[in-house]
Amino acid sequence: MGYIDSFYAQTRTDDAERPPLQGALDAEVCIVGGGLAGLNTALSLAERGVQDVVLLEAERVGFGASGRNGGFVGPGYSQGAETLIKWVGVDHTRALYDLTTEALALIRKRIGAYDIACGPNPDGVLVASWTSAPDGLRAHRDLMAETFGAQLEFIERERLRAEFADSPHYFDGLLNRDAFQFHPLNYCLGVARAAEAKGVRIFESTPVVTLDPDRDDKLVVTPAGQVRARHVVLAAGGYGLGLYAPVSGAVLPVATYVMASAPIPADRLADAIKCNIAIGDTRDAGDYYRALPDGRVLWGGRMTARRGEPARLADVMLGDMKRVYPQLADIARYETAWMGTMSYARHRMPQIGQRQPGLWYAQAFGGSGMGTTTVAGEVLAEAIKGEDDRIRLFEPFGLAWAGGPFGSIAAQSAYWFYQARDWWTARRDRTELGKPG
Ligand SMILES: Cc1cc2nc3c(=O)[nH]c(=O)nc-3n(C[C@H](O)[C@H](O)[C@H](O)COP(=O)(O)OP(=O)(O)OC[C@H]3O[C@@H](n4cnc5c(N)ncnc54)[C@H](O)[C@@H]3O)c2cc1C
Repeated sequence: MGYIDSFYAQTRTDDAERPPLQGALDAEVCIVGGGLAGLNTALSLAERGVQDVVLLEAERVGFGASGRNGGFVGPGYSQGAETLIKWVGVDHTRALYDLTTEALALIRKRIGAYDIACGPNPDGVLVASWTSAPDGLRAHRDLMAETFGAQLEFIERERLRAEFADSPHYFDGLLNRDAFQFHPLNYCLGVARAAEAKGVRIFESTPVVTLDPDRDDKLVVTPAGQVRARHVVLAAGGYGLGLYAPVSGAVLPVATYVMASAPIPADRLADAIKCNIAIGDTRDAGDYYRALPDGRVLWGGRMTARRGEPARLADVMLGDMKRVYPQLADIARYETAWMGTMSYARHRMPQIGQRQPGLWYAQAFGGSGMGTTTVAGEVLAEAIKGEDDRIRLFEPFGLAWAGGPFGSIAAQSAYWFYQARDWWTARRDRTELGKPG
C-alpha cells in the first residue's frame, strides 16, 4: 500500500513501511486510524507512561487528511467563537479555546523535543477578507482579544496588498502571528516515530474490519489478526465510514483539494504573494495557500460532499490561483494536485468522548484539525489514564446522526448557497469601489 501522489508524499523524510498485523495481540489500548487523531492519542498515552498501546492503520501513517492538508496550524475550531459563546457560554468557550492554544504550544514543543523535520515553520496566518467588512473584522478581533486574550492584528486593505498579498479580490484582513505552518505528512511521521520510541506498536496496511465493543476485553478484527483491548479509540476520520455506525454515522465526509505549483521565480512571485506566511480568505470554502522557499505555492481550496476526484483537478486549482493573482497567469504551472477527505459533524465541532465504557472516539475535526487533533490526544489520554476529565468539555457536541446520503446532499446544497452568497457580496463590494465584478 502506498501514499497518493502529492507534494507531501514526494518530499517525505521517512519511508519505513510498517508490517501489517498478523495473529492475535492483547493491548491496554487499541487505536483505530493512523491520522493525527490516532497518532496524537498514541503519543499522549505513551508520554503518560501507558503501556501496551497498539495503533492499526488501514493504509500508511498519515495516509488520510492528516498527511494531505494545507499545513496551517492555528488555534480554535471549525465552529466560530461567536456561535460557541451562544451555545455554551463564555467560560466554557474560553476553556475550549485554551485547549487549542495549549495544543499549539505542545506541537511546537514536540517538533523540538522529537526533532521532527517538518519545516519550514514560519509564524503567522493571514485571513484576507473577500468582501468589504472592516467593522466585522474589527469586532471579531476585539471579541478574540477580550474573551481569549488572542492578539489578532487588523491589516488595512492598502497595507495588505503592499506587504502581504496583492490580489484585486482582497479587502482588509486579520493576521494571527501565533499560528504557523508545517509539512503535515512529515509531522505525522515524526509523531509516529516518537510514539514508537516510547513503546507504541503501529501496524500499517491493517484495516479494522469488525469490532465487538460489548465486552470488557473489546475485540478488534483485521484481515489477518485481532486485538483484544480494554480500551478502543475510534479515530478513522472521513475514511472510516461504516466501521461502527453509531460513531461513523455521526460525521459527513467532506472533500477539499490542494495543488502544488511548479516553482515561480522570486521576482515574479513577489509581485503577488509578498510574504512567507500562510494565507486564507473569509469565504466558507475559500482558498488557503502558502508560498514555500523554492517559489512553489501550495494552493488549497473548494469543498464538496461528492466522493470522486473531479476531472482535470490540477487545472481547476490553477485556475483558482490565476483568478486571485492575475499577474501570475502567464507563469504559474502545476506539478501535482490531490484531494483529501475531512469529517464534519452537523455542529462543526470535534466529537471527542466515550460512547460506552472503554469505547472512545475522536473525529469531526473539520478543516481545523492540526490543533484540535492534538487536543483530542491530550484529553483522551487524560481520561483513559483517569487523570483528568477535561474531555467533558466536548459533551455538548455529541454523536448526532449526520444524515447519511441526505446529509451529503444538504451539505452540498449549503456549500452552493454559500458560494453564491460570497460571489454576490464580493461583486457588490467591488462595484461600490468601481472595480469589475
Ligand atoms: C485537503 C485538506 C486540507 C486541510 N487543511 C487543513 C489545514 O491547513 N489546517 C488544519 O488544521 N486542518 C486542515 N485540514 C483538516 C485536517 O487535515 C483534518 O481535520 C485532520 O487531519 C483529521 O485527522 P484524523 O486523524 O481525524 O483523520 P485522518 O487524517 O483522515 O486519518 C484517519 C485514518 O484512519 C484510517 N482508517 C479509516 N478507516 C480505518 C479502519 N477501518 N481501520 C484502520 N484504519 C482506518 C485512514 O486510512 C486514515 O489514515 C485539511 C483537510 C484536508 C483534506
